[in-house]
Amino acid sequence: MRIIVCAKQVPDTTEVRIDPVTGTLIREGVPSILNPDDANALEEALKLKDNNPDITVSVVTMGPPQAEIMLRECLAMGADEVYMISDRAFGGSDTWATSNALAAAIRKIGDYKFIFAGRQAIDGDTAQVGPQIAEKLDIPQVTYVQDFSLDGDTVTVQRQLEDGYEVIKVKTPVMLTAVKELNDPRYMSVDMIFDAFKKDVTIWTIDDLDIDSTVVGLKASPTRVARSFTPSPKGKGVMLEGTTQDKIERLVVELKHKHII
Ligand SMILES: Cc1cc2nc3c(=O)[nH]c(=O)nc-3n(C[C@H](O)[C@H](O)[C@H](O)COP(=O)(O)OP(=O)(O)OC[C@H]3O[C@@H](n4cnc5c(N)ncnc54)[C@H](O)[C@@H]3O)c2cc1C
Repeated sequence: MRIIVCAKQVPDTTEVRIDPVTGTLIREGVPSILNPDDANALEEALKLKDNNPDITVSVVTMGPPQAEIMLRECLAMGADEVYMISDRAFGGSDTWATSNALAAAIRKIGDYKFIFAGRQAIDGDTAQVGPQIAEKLDIPQVTYVQDFSLDGDTVTVQRQLEDGYEVIKVKTPVMLTAVKELNDPRYMSVDMIFDAFKKDVTIWTIDDLDIDSTVVGLKASPTRVARSFTPSPKGKGVMLEGTTQDKIERLVVELKHKHII
């Protein structure tokens, strides 16, 4: 049985800078990490593998060549095989084009019971790629998975809501997107780090995938970043003076003025 995990390499910061001219992410000088939600997705796949050694955990990423080191991290956590789709043809892809490329890679890997992705990447922050891949592969999806169990071909998940959760039963194959409450990702072990550098990283270009070049990359993307800017800092704080009653009255006026209440 195969489980495919979608993992993205992201800048280790929540304040992603974007080149105002090209609209692309500025990656220089920012350390890169495995996207946190994807670490939860991988951990869940590895937990299933801990109990069933017949499971193969395959990780797939789309990204520039330097994403390979993130895949080695996934191997050092316990993944069995890793795939990277990397080609200039994919550059500038929005979420639609990204999910086209990843769905094509997943089709090529094939024979999967689940696909796990993170709920959201901390750089693009859209939470769209997982559901879009499911659409393109024509399989069901459950997002915001905070708990998970498997019984034969039936998956029971708790789907996180703002004020609780819902329990959903679904048949495999299925796309699940993980939130951080799902588990605590394991650390890499020293032995596994050494082994990770002996394993192959399969690298596919656009020619290796059964995909039309008109559905990937910047030109194919239905959306464009027209402008990007850093939000201006908030103004100075104001200390309210007077009695408690005065302060409350002034606060109410200010909040009404700002349309907060
Ligand atoms: C309008 C628009 C225009 C864009 N233009 C550009 C651009 O010109 N250049 C540029 O560099 N970026 C661009 N991006 C960013 C790019 O689209 C995203 O990095 C990418 O589509 C993933 O979306 P996300 O980061 O929001 O991921 P999310 O949808 O938040 O990710 C959810 C999950 O999907 C999986 N996933 C997402 N991306 C990948 C991946 N690459 N490999 C493996 N798994 C993945 C992960 O499991 C992740 O946790 C653009 C985004 C938008 C919205």
